[in-house]
Parts: sequence; C-alpha cells; structure tokens
Amino acid sequence: MIKKLYPFGKAKAFNVTYDDGVLQDVRFVELLNAYKLKGTFNLNSGLMKNEFEWVHESGCVVKRLNEEIVLSLYSDHEIASHTLTHPYLDGKSEAEVLYELKEDRNNLEKLFHREIKGFAVPFDYYSDLIEKCAKKCGFEYARISEESLSFRPQTDYHRWKATVFHLDDALQKLAYDFIDTDEELALFQIVGHSYDLDTENMWDKIESIFKTISAQDDILPMTTIEIVDYLKAMENAEITDSHIINNSDKSLYFSVNGTICEVKPASLLNVINR
Ligand SMILES: [Zn+2]
Repeated sequence: MIKKLYPFGKAKAFNVTYDDGVLQDVRFVELLNAYKLKGTFNLNSGLMKNEFEWVHESGCVVKRLNEEIVLSLYSDHEIASHTLTHPYLDGKSEAEVLYELKEDRNNLEKLFHREIKGFAVPFDYYSDLIEKCAKKCGFEYARISEESLSFRPQTDYHRWKATVFHLDDALQKLAYDFIDTDEELALFQIVGHSYDLDTENMWDKIESIFKTISAQDDILPMTTIEIVDYLKAMENAEITDSHIINNSDKSLYFSVNGTICEVKPASLLNVINR
C-alpha cells in the first residue's frame, strides 16, 4: 500500500497564515519561533508606516509595522502579497486589481530580496477577475477568506482555503482532531490577524495549540508556498502499483507497505517486493 507523505516522511503539515503586518506580529513571531513553527505573513507594502493605524471596535489601536521592523522580524517565515493598500476589491477594474497586486509584489521583492510567490486576498471578497489577475501576476497560489474546516489538502491553488479562522469556535476541536487524523497529506492551517489575540485575549489559547502541535513527531511545520510547491510536485508524480516516478526537482516521500521511502528528484522507485 502506498501513502503519500510530506518532506522527511512526515504524515502531516502545519502552517499559520496571518495578515496585515501589525505590531502584535512581533509577539506572535516570537511564539512561532519558540515552538519552531512556520508562518506565512501577508503584507501591504503601501501601508508600512507607523501612521497607518486604525481603532478596532474594542478600542485597541492597530498599528502597522514599518519596513525596518518587518525586514528582520519575518526572516525565517514566508512573505506573501496582500495587495498594495488593502482595498476592498469589489468593483475594481482589471487594471486596478493588477496594479494593487503587481506593485505590492515588486515592492516586497525589492525590500526582502526574495521571490514573492503567494497572495492572500484582503477582506472577504473574491472573484474570477481577482483569480485571473493573481494568475496573470504569476502567483503560485491565492488564499481566499473562506475556511475549508477540513484536513484534506487543497487542490485549487488559486482559491486556496486555510483550515480555520482563529476566532472560529471550531479552532480548538480541530487542533485536537488533527492530532488523531489519518487523512493522507493532512494539513492544518490557521488564518488570522495577530491583533485579535490581544482584543480577544487569546494568546494562551493559541500558545497551547502551538505547544500541542510542536510536540507531535509526525507534523512538519511548513510555509504555505512550501506546501503548495510540494503538493504540485506530488500531483505530477506517476504512481502505480509497480512504481513511482518523481517528475519534479524535489524529493518526494511515501510510505510503501509501512516503510518510509524517499524518491529523489527526476527518478523512479520500484515498489514491487517492498
Ligand atoms: Zn487584511
């Protein structure tokens, strides 16, 4: 029996994808680093000045981080685009949407000196036009606001759903269920904004989830783009009862009759007699 696995033969992957690049990310990233977890941070390069702040309904002032801070803060994590200025994209023309996406990606690439391959839509509006623009800009995936509430890995990369929004009541139960799931290539991905952890007083809750996840030996912390790249490579593999052909440039991992096997880039594994 062949079962697909994540890198290093891990059965499951975990990621957090957090938006807006706000002050509370400093504490949040410290927490991720302490538990050796991986985040994806979706940033608006046009709002990276301290003066872009707003008042949350709780009275908490939400401050944006400036360029100097973001550069060092997110060094071990993925940076993705969240548009230039965080507009509501409903009613915008194709040219306007393209401008928001392209400018942001270019600014982030210049600032971080790395390729920006992912996009997370601002607010909760998504459309065929935005999808088309995200593809036109070359983004490998576009994360939408809808939750999957499932551990099944996503297959529509430009309508990518994270598992659960962190304020959803289902969060805690899903975290426990994830420990027990035997879904193939199970993925648990939490989406949110770190200022909610202040306003909802839920730092302890999120830390207890991180602690539980990081104590599991079969869960690999990954960024969203690492997950997307790996799933795409897995999709292109040829898997039959007799062999596995890896057509990608990265190692793929499988459990074959209970034994973990690495299939090197552009190579074949004979699975008969294993
Ligand atoms: Zn946002």
